[in-house]
Amino acid sequence: MIQFYNTLTKQKEKFESIKPNEVGLYTCGPTVYWFAHVGNLRTYIFEDLLKRVLKLNGYEVKHVMNITDVGHLTSDSDSGEDKLEKGARQEQKSVWEIAEFYTSQFLKDLKLLNIEDSTILVKATDTIKEQIELIKILEQKGYTYIITDGIYFDTSKLKKYGKLWGEKEKTELRGRIEEVKEKKNPTDFALWKFSPKNEKRQMEWVSPWGIGFPGWHTECVVMSIENLGIPFDIHCGGIDHVSIHHTNEIAQADAAYATIMSNYWMHGEFLNVKDGKMSKSLGNITTITDLKNKGISPLAYRYQCLNTHYRQKMNFSDESIEFSQNTLEKLYEKASDLKESAKTELSNIFDEYKNKFLDFVNDDLNIPSALALCWEMIKDKNLTDFEKYSLLHEFDTVFGLRIKDVSINKKSFVNKQFILKSIDDIGLPIWSAELSSIPSEVLKLIEERVKARNEKNWQIADELRDKILNNGWSIEDNDNQTFIRQIKKRDA
Ligand code: AMP
Ligand code: ZN
Repeated sequence: MIQFYNTLTKQKEKFESIKPNEVGLYTCGPTVYWFAHVGNLRTYIFEDLLKRVLKLNGYEVKHVMNITDVGHLTSDSDSGEDKLEKGARQEQKSVWEIAEFYTSQFLKDLKLLNIEDSTILVKATDTIKEQIELIKILEQKGYTYIITDGIYFDTSKLKKYGKLWGEKEKTELRGRIEEVKEKKNPTDFALWKFSPKNEKRQMEWVSPWGIGFPGWHTECVVMSIENLGIPFDIHCGGIDHVSIHHTNEIAQADAAYATIMSNYWMHGEFLNVKDGKMSKSLGNITTITDLKNKGISPLAYRYQCLNTHYRQKMNFSDESIEFSQNTLEKLYEKASDLKESAKTELSNIFDEYKNKFLDFVNDDLNIPSALALCWEMIKDKNLTDFEKYSLLHEFDTVFGLRIKDVSINKKSFVNKQFILKSIDDIGLPIWSAELSSIPSEVLKLIEERVKARNEKNWQIADELRDKILNNGWSIEDNDNQTFIRQIKKRDA
């Protein structure tokens, strides 16, 4: 049995798909005006885990995701600038260029995190006609009104607005929605915004109500229902979408089609840093490129996300990501050791582990317990190496850590002293001691440092470490091994 926590009912529920063996899944995609930060990406990792668990249970998953390339304003109250128009102005590029560039960067990040592609990826700007059609239906049914800056949805016309809200959202909302003077109710939201007078927007379209662009909450209703029907099975997003974005999606579908859009609503918690939520506006973000520049594998970040339940807040720091990278490397080392083992019969204990794993992941994605089970399994003396590798392989269909792509050629380590670290195109660390790629002057310094350490000449060893660092390589000692990692060159 699979159970998920459903934000709609505020409880864990048995999952039952509408069609047998098939799941229709919609996940809100990025607003492509800047690089995704690892907080945003935590949400996509959670959704990837959900998909992999459903697949492990034999479901075929039809996954639809949108790319928001228009209509997401800088303020939740439907005022402020369009995030993309603002980005374009700041970078002195066209809005279309901005959208294309950050979409391709986003897709690269997903690859590096081993997040599987969605079945269908749709841009908001490719569905303008359909969005206008939906607004027309809402208008015909009497749910809309026009004010100076656009067409709005009248939330007081619905029997029940705010189906996803608990007490937390009600309180939060007071702080988030300011009154737009002409709105009838504070919770009313824009369906279509008129282009500002005397100003030509780069993205604007003709509509029955005037030239303008759609509000952010309409695109997801159109794209999900067009591709998955109504109702569909699961709708996901970050926790911040509960109070406004998803609430307004539900309102439009209720009004237009008199039914709930999706049976299950699942939300991933935030990633925090020491001064609060990771967010671009607070200026505290880390991107995948930042991680790679520090020699951290994007998969180490994925590992960190496996270790915290998706409904728990997670903290991100240099220490937490280093810890995840070290633990992941230990896992890769174990996997490499087990890889060559000879085939053996599978025992009952093997099946027990498989079942326990399935129980954990099916219990509202309890991936942290599944990960702990994985380590317990690796240490279990009652299993053969072959069984361990087979289980590891199977568990990794959910974890997505690319266990089968890992190979550590231990023979190529020079005296087991040096391990070159860099990150390859699919996000894996490269170990093999390709010493030729370390500049000879750095190599010489490293050798001198090893000698100094062997002679317990710590002060010289520390000085040499600084010199190595100034050459763009960080060095770290761990047990009997010295780890070398290329970093960005220090500013002079
Ligand atoms: P956006 O590109 O702003 O539409 O956000 C993309 C996704 O990232 C949404 O599902 C947000 O809920 C989610 N998100 C934004 N900030 C964070 C964070 N600090 N931690 C986790 N998810 C986040
Ligand atoms: Zn959405």
